[in-house]
Amino acid sequence: IVISGRKEAHYKIPEKEFPYDPAKPKVKLLGTGGTIASRLDYRTGAVIPAFSPGELYGSVPELADICNLETEKLFGVFSENMGPEQYIATAKAIGREIEKGVQGVVIGHGTDTMHHTAAILSFMVQDPPVPIVMVGSQRSSDRPSSDAALNLMHSVKTAAESDIAEVMVCMFGPTSDTYGLLHRGTRVRKMHSSYRSTFRTVSDIPIAMVSREKITPIRQDYKRRRADRAVKIDTSFDERVSIVYYYPNMKPDIIDSLIDNGYRGIVIAGTGLGHVNKPLYPALKRARDKGVAVYMTVQTLWGYVQMYVYDTGRDMMELGVIPAANMLPEVAYVKLAWALGKTSDIEEVRKIMLTPVAGEITEREPSNGYLIFQGGVPEVEAFISTIKK
Ligand code: ASP
Repeated sequence: IVISGRKEAHYKIPEKEFPYDPAKPKVKLLGTGGTIASRLDYRTGAVIPAFSPGELYGSVPELADICNLETEKLFGVFSENMGPEQYIATAKAIGREIEKGVQGVVIGHGTDTMHHTAAILSFMVQDPPVPIVMVGSQRSSDRPSSDAALNLMHSVKTAAESDIAEVMVCMFGPTSDTYGLLHRGTRVRKMHSSYRSTFRTVSDIPIAMVSREKITPIRQDYKRRRADRAVKIDTSFDERVSIVYYYPNMKPDIIDSLIDNGYRGIVIAGTGLGHVNKPLYPALKRARDKGVAVYMTVQTLWGYVQMYVYDTGRDMMELGVIPAANMLPEVAYVKLAWALGKTSDIEEVRKIMLTPVAGEITEREPSNGYLIFQGGVPEVEAFISTIKK
């Protein structure tokens, strides 16, 4: 790190050439942008995208102890600018790298929409033989409290060494810098706008813990690493899908305008077990009659849609609204876009939506899923022990 100049501090991390060790596994780091690839601009005080993945390695030389790392910058965007074009290019790049024989892929990404991308990649890259690990940072690498280096080391270790062949998000576990968590790509969500421990596995427990020393699975039902290079890349995506976040007194014109503008799919994030008000019902019926696929998810995020409990739920199902079990709203959104990209047969879409591809629907929620490793028990115990002192 070089900081020079008097009035205008100039900050630069040198590009470093990665040493090659034939005994170590090969990992590919694909950069898409985000804070992990950014630095503070000292003139404006704003965070700007600046680092190439090569510079990223230059700032974390420990990565060479783990693997032979090859880097490629796919894009340099903050993650609100990710969309179908970038999803498809990323999925194809992953497929290419797997065929070339890498032991694992790391994807550097902005944290804000990392859970959207993790979900769509879980559908576009099916049954990968190696780990696909998404990583980001909440604080840019030039800040003392940055999580960039640790997250990078954890993610690269996971890609190189773990036997978990799934699309995962690897980010800070607790706020103390002790370990990272590996979250399944379809069950993860950013839950805090600024904490480093922002990612949570929702309605389930994470797959594993990762420290600089080891990877410790928390569950056993993950897909295992394979030696073959078979991977199915399926980049279907229909952009005419929207999420509607219901609020009391919502008017039906919101739904009507989507229908009139040619949208083919609507994911509702409803209240409680999956509700919207009665004035919306005629618009929902109109959507069904026009062949628009409407799915219900829950704003509570944790838990299942349950449309059999109240007669209003039953009424809505009669109008064609389909409960999406415990799929997160963003996951249902990208999955519906993916499904509609394959077929316009609404029954076929329903089959695709309700058949789990990568853990996006689970049969039941573990009783400890709401607390453990979620800013829950271990963190609470640590907190209490500081008070007792
Ligand atoms: N706004 C940034 C992004 O999502 C935040 C981050 O990278 O953490 O791209």
